[in-house]
Amino acid sequence: MKRNEITTGDDPTKAVLSESGLHSKHLCDYVINVATGCKHGCKFCYVPSTPNIRARPEMLKEHADVDQPQREWGQYVLYRDSIIDRIDGILNRKRTWKRTPQGCGIVGISFATDCYMDGRAGKITRKVVQSLAEHDRYARVLTRNPILALQDADVFVEAGENVTIGSSIPCMNAEHVHAIEPRTPPPEHRLRGLKEFSEMGVNTYVSLSPTYPTQSRSDLHEQLERIAECEPSVIFHEPINPRSGNFQMTVQAAKAAGQNELAMELERLRDRDQWAEYAVTQLRWVQELGEGLDLPVHLWPDKSLLKHVPTDVADWLRGWRNRQSPEGFADRETPTTSPPSLEQPNLRTWA
Ligand code: SF4
Repeated sequence: MKRNEITTGDDPTKAVLSESGLHSKHLCDYVINVATGCKHGCKFCYVPSTPNIRARPEMLKEHADVDQPQREWGQYVLYRDSIIDRIDGILNRKRTWKRTPQGCGIVGISFATDCYMDGRAGKITRKVVQSLAEHDRYARVLTRNPILALQDADVFVEAGENVTIGSSIPCMNAEHVHAIEPRTPPPEHRLRGLKEFSEMGVNTYVSLSPTYPTQSRSDLHEQLERIAECEPSVIFHEPINPRSGNFQMTVQAAKAAGQNELAMELERLRDRDQWAEYAVTQLRWVQELGEGLDLPVHLWPDKSLLKHVPTDVADWLRGWRNRQSPEGFADRETPTTSPPSLEQPNLRTWA
């Protein structure tokens, strides 16, 4: 059915709980995606270039009349309502669980869509969080719409230490955010939602993902001060990466919204050396600012960045990739080996 240019339908996928490689980012060992497709349609989103979308053109054509899954990202959503009736049986039957030191057996909801993009997705999410908590499993919820998630605050409070809720807050400039995340709530709303959860005693986290090249050191400082109000147990950070197939659409969207400075700065990142310089600079700033404000920052340097920087910088970035997230959530084990040095090399001689 076509609604406001977004086609919705039912996802016929049977699998509910899937193992995930996101333990490499200290996020989870499993994921449950409550839908295929996402109404938020962020222009830089990496999801349409993953097998979850790329390997299913026939299904998307049949159920949502999608011709070009990547180009049409944000215009189709296939919900997985059947999860509501199936999740308890699946969890009852599951006997063994994978638990990596970084992923801690956590179930992520949902990293290939926004689980609170609307009420229908939220209804599925509510049941998933409730069932995971009843089965004594850890759940990590990620949404750009935590205000809507507040409708399920009772479930989050009841789940207690078994759940954490986070939001991506890449930038506080609402016009820039609106240009390339056209249907998401503004950053102030995301902060407000997380703050309310925190005040109710629910674990929270924030993902500065992905930060934009227009953000200065003082912008990031101000942003981190605001984020501190939510008392997050971790603040993940990654700079934007122009590798996604949607990057050209991101630049075009910024131009179309009249955000010429943003468009120009994004365009500049097509040059890998310029991207590396910007990415390392922002990672360095966020580490320094986090230390200065006594915030639990955890950097997510992209693997490909290591190939574009001098050896000492690559060693510093590798240290962050290997470091355990500072969250206490999900009974994280203290690493038995010494953590790698996070001391910054003399980056100014390079960047
Ligand atoms: S909210 Fe997340 S999944 Fe949805 S389009 Fe944006 S980045 Fe992609």
